[in-house]
Amino acid sequence: MFEKTGIPSKEMVMGKFPSIERINKGPVAVVECYKEIPCNPCETACKFNAINVGDDINNIPVLNIDNCTGCAVCLSKCPGLAIMVVDGSKSKENVKIKIPYEFLPLPEKGDIVRGLDREGKYVADVTVASVLNPKSFDRTPIITIEADRKYIYELRNIQVEA
Ligand code: SF4
Ligand code: SF4
Repeated sequence: MFEKTGIPSKEMVMGKFPSIERINKGPVAVVECYKEIPCNPCETACKFNAINVGDDINNIPVLNIDNCTGCAVCLSKCPGLAIMVVDGSKSKENVKIKIPYEFLPLPEKGDIVRGLDREGKYVADVTVASVLNPKSFDRTPIITIEADRKYIYELRNIQVEA
């Protein structure tokens, strides 16, 4: 299915997620890069040496969860929008998820928007916790959403009503 649609299977997604114990400790990246491609901005953007592509630029990036602070800088640098950050440390009920978002209009903090899965299907309404769009992100804003933690492995995007 992935070769035809670009949509990863649940097993592929789960293979990229840090353990729930790590997620509950604080923000950490989920690097959903599944194919060997000549690309490494994620590695060069991370000043904590948390992403390693290595000598062969075609290698699939590997995340060091102990080094990752969840700063989200790599999200705006990845041309494939393949990285998000999850944080389960703030609440037992909810999880915070940072996603790169390149559509307009941008949501605003406090908005309730439609949370979508990797196929673009509706999952649940989610709350926008923050919108970061500094010049250094080069037109790839980072949206933080807050959602029921039962959707942590499904949510990957949002839809904002114009
Ligand atoms: S979220 Fe920050 S610390 Fe983690 S891999 Fe990305 S740039 Fe590095
Ligand atoms: S920048 Fe994005 S697409 Fe490129 S290797 Fe890193 S995660 Fe994959």
